[in-house]
Amino acid sequence: MSQSSLGNERNSEGFHGTKVEENQNKNRTAVLSGLVLSVALISAFVYGYSKAWGFLPLFWIGLFAVLMVVFLVGRLFNKGGFAQARCPQCNTMLHFTNPERARTVQCEACKSWSAGTEYMSLISPDHVAEEPVFEVELGEGPIGWPTLEDGSRRCSTCTKVATSMVQIQGVDAVGDLVGMVSPISIDRVKTMKVPSCGEHKDGLLLDATGSELTLCFRSYSYYQEFLRLNPPDAG
Ligand SMILES: [Zn+2]
Ligand SMILES: [Zn+2]
Repeated sequence: MSQSSLGNERNSEGFHGTKVEENQNKNRTAVLSGLVLSVALISAFVYGYSKAWGFLPLFWIGLFAVLMVVFLVGRLFNKGGFAQARCPQCNTMLHFTNPERARTVQCEACKSWSAGTEYMSLISPDHVAEEPVFEVELGEGPIGWPTLEDGSRRCSTCTKVATSMVQIQGVDAVGDLVGMVSPISIDRVKTMKVPSCGEHKDGLLLDATGSELTLCFRSYSYYQEFLRLNPPDAG
């Protein structure tokens, strides 16, 4: 998890990072499979319509056909798609989607975090990601919240004082599915209160999949401080 100082030095000296390029093989495969699937779905729809399959099957086939066509049109205008870049730290290939959108990703090989849009460079200590990507698994005990120098609680996204605790909730997607078919109601929605400056109310995300609760942060420094205050259970 620890960040090498070498990477940060390169960063502060104006190192541009590694170039993001489209993963053309993967994109070509996706477009080809999309085309084949669209043709198959449209044929199935026409055939089903002539045989009067009924509303529901036609509805689903039609819906997937429209989604596939939307996907193909999107690819035509070069939106989304698979892309890749080298890890600025260890040169391992990082894979992601949406080449035109800013991202913060972790290298699976060396665990360093990098961010960027056209170029990927190692994140600076004060990095705030576009989305809550820094994850901490919550333990059983009470939570220690990071503070500012004067001891007051810090906003979970920026470096201002937290003026309030806002409630966030996490829904268990797996539990949701079980809940739909189970006659017994299950406590699926977990809530918790997190410090906020008043401006940042959605800087954190609570993921309640399974029995584990995971808190996801946008601020890298807050995430590191939170990890220090709430070390993951050993073993
Ligand atoms: Zn790496
Ligand atoms: Zn804030």
